Amino acid sequence: MAGEPLIELRDVNKYYGRLHVLQDIDLTVGRGEVVVVIGPSGSGKSTLCRTINRLESVDSGTVTIDGKPLPEEGRELARLRADVGMVFQSFNLFAHRTVLANVSLAPVKVRGRGREEADRRSRELLERVGLLAHADKYPAQLSGGQQQRVAIARALAMEPKALLFDEPTSALDPEMINEVLEVMQQLARDGMTMVVVTHEMGFARSAANRVVFMADGRIVEDRPPEDFFTAPSSERARDFLSKIL
Ligand code: ADP
Ligand code: MG
Repeated sequence: MAGEPLIELRDVNKYYGRLHVLQDIDLTVGRGEVVVVIGPSGSGKSTLCRTINRLESVDSGTVTIDGKPLPEEGRELARLRADVGMVFQSFNLFAHRTVLANVSLAPVKVRGRGREEADRRSRELLERVGLLAHADKYPAQLSGGQQQRVAIARALAMEPKALLFDEPTSALDPEMINEVLEVMQQLARDGMTMVVVTHEMGFARSAANRVVFMADGRIVEDRPPEDFFTAPSSERARDFLSKIL
């Protein structure tokens, strides 16, 4: 059902040695919601993403995906983790495999799909991100923006309940940023639940239901974009916005 909690973090704390990198994090992302996370470098945005699908463990608190607490390890973790796809700044495509094979690989290996069915579905996804004509190429033959769109198709191929994006356009040349943001906008319109770390404030304004502003491991603000951008309530956010806008 739209709006019911899909991702829930309750009182999450995490340390790297003495660094308290996530402090008392409470965050709920409803089904179909788009939450944009912004904040200064080092504020814990990537760590937050990585704890959501247990690429990192937490020291206290709970992470719940679709009503199920994420276990520390084991087969159940692998299954639940696959419910949340992740798209990174560096696209991490397999260089020695075709675009189509990059998208089909995990559904075959992890989900146990047949090769033909996986390839058919992958072609649909490549069409959705505008790259069907490039299915038989290798990643190095594509631009950065095209490679990132392949990475998005690859994440979608696992049929995740939610997608995390950690600065998906930060490594791209400026002229390629929009083609990736447009794919993300379309996913948002199609109802995908998304957590997006980005400095693209145009995307935040137009696609986000909420903007989460982080500083020093804390969530300082969590508000609709129209409120956040017109009247940030914290000094930290005002300072941050004055530097990037
Ligand atoms: P952001 O994505 O907002 O820039 P990060 O989540 O990457 O922030 O990092 C938050 C803080 O945690 C930074 O001070 C960073 O140096 C530190 N950090 C990140 N990953 C590790 C790690 N694996 N070990 C130790 N410190 C880390
Ligand atoms: Mg980061």
